[in-house]
Amino acid sequence: MKSAIAFLATLALLVSCDKANTSTTEDDTDMATENAPDWALVIHGGAGTILPENMTPEREADIRAAMSRAIAAGEEVLSNGGSAADAVEATIHILEDSPHFNAGRGAVFTHDGTNALDASFMTGHDRQAGAVAGVTNIKNPISLARAVLDHSEHVMLSGQGAEDFAINRGMDTISADWFYTESRYQSLQRVLEREAEGNSSTGTILNPDQKYGTVGCVALDQQGNIAAGTSTGGMTNKRFDRIGDSPVIGAGTFADNVSCGVSCTGHGEYFIRWAVAHDVHARMSYGGASLEEAANAVIHEVLPEVGGSGGLIALDRAGNIAMPFNTPGMYRGYKRAGEEEYIEFYGE
Ligand code: ASP
Repeated sequence: MKSAIAFLATLALLVSCDKANTSTTEDDTDMATENAPDWALVIHGGAGTILPENMTPEREADIRAAMSRAIAAGEEVLSNGGSAADAVEATIHILEDSPHFNAGRGAVFTHDGTNALDASFMTGHDRQAGAVAGVTNIKNPISLARAVLDHSEHVMLSGQGAEDFAINRGMDTISADWFYTESRYQSLQRVLEREAEGNSSTGTILNPDQKYGTVGCVALDQQGNIAAGTSTGGMTNKRFDRIGDSPVIGAGTFADNVSCGVSCTGHGEYFIRWAVAHDVHARMSYGGASLEEAANAVIHEVLPEVGGSGGLIALDRAGNIAMPFNTPGMYRGYKRAGEEEYIEFYGE
């Protein structure tokens, strides 16, 4: 009898300890978010060999203006109490419609001289996700990725099937001319020439300009929810329907309110194999790392060791922002409620 009472007492103690632990964690979270800004938004427009000496003042001003318009579109949603998901979509639309970034209008060319676009979207309050790969006639692939999240039971659709889904949803399609930009076309020609000269040491996809112009956005709304999205044309001269990390949930994009939202840019094959976006989340949620520690470890320790170049943006519920990159530059910017907008291109 005594041992039964002792057993029950121990059990009661264990249960109460467990409750205490749980409530401590919640208190910690509350404390961490107590001083959080009302809302926050961070964007990238790709990483790579972005150097002041390769930039004209006009081009720099144009890119800065496009990024500023994109941030303003997200701010409009968030400051009026809209959702992080709406902010991410509105922000990425502006970047997709600009010819300066490798997404939507400014998408790079495939080996065959076409454009094939990838995008993904994730919401952190419910871990819902949507992605599309290899679409050719959708003006804003980020909206199609979001439609997959909102209106299908699947996470990832590709090619013709994804385009059929868009048409079923009543989305507008656009002709291939929309994606023609002279500079991207010339970039493909340079890669093809190098390839013909036998200078392609890494297969067929590397761009000698070494620029990854993918775009991404992570937002935190006034309800404390996080959303993340990424959109890209992939890599110049890609062939065989190659798909990079951008539409792969856990590689190019991830969001979970318990940790953070992440959007990546870089050499997609590495970002897939090292599950970069999920690794940032995992280091925070299982490893107890801060946002900055987690993001820096992946970009500055893990990837350089294996030759993976690129960067990422990340945002947590406390409004902390990380924007590490291991390339010379990364188009990046952010705005938090009550603060000035920040936009920068180059490394330190
Ligand atoms: N990550 C993209 C890809 O591999 C490229 C980029 O970031 O620009 O498709």
